[in-house]
Amino acid sequence: MSHSRIIAGSKQIALVAHDHKKKDLIEWAVYNRAVLSGHTLIATGTTGKLLEEKLDLPIVKLLSGPLGGDQQIGALIAEEKLDLLIFFWDPMEAQPHDSDVKALLRLAVARNILIACNRTTADFILTSVLMQQEYPIVIPDYTEYLKRPVI
Ligand code: PGA
Repeated sequence: MSHSRIIAGSKQIALVAHDHKKKDLIEWAVYNRAVLSGHTLIATGTTGKLLEEKLDLPIVKLLSGPLGGDQQIGALIAEEKLDLLIFFWDPMEAQPHDSDVKALLRLAVARNILIACNRTTADFILTSVLMQQEYPIVIPDYTEYLKRPVI
């Protein structure tokens, strides 16, 4: 049976941008600084460094994405420690860590967390009244999957 986990009004937000999308993400974050300041901000290494400089807010900086940062964010999702992923990935350029990118997007969907991959979606999420409230995220039921015959 599916269950839910309550995410708090103050959310755990991860921010990641590929190199040609970093400018977009920073512009968006600066514009939304006041709202973002009410939440915990986590980012991959280079994105985090740039955000910290421009926002003057504390950012939990992980490893650089291609060096394992995407997978660290994936681990946070798996451990139910992340509520929202803002991920400006580049649709026009292959990445050395494409497999990590795919894994991260897959896990975000599997765990039903909030995810925005472009500015429009990020705007709609950040202005939702639910951003400031508790919200029960429904965790899909994977018990049948865990019980599958494997040998
Ligand atoms: P970076 O990683 O913030 O360290 O550049 C982003 C990514 O995952 O490509």
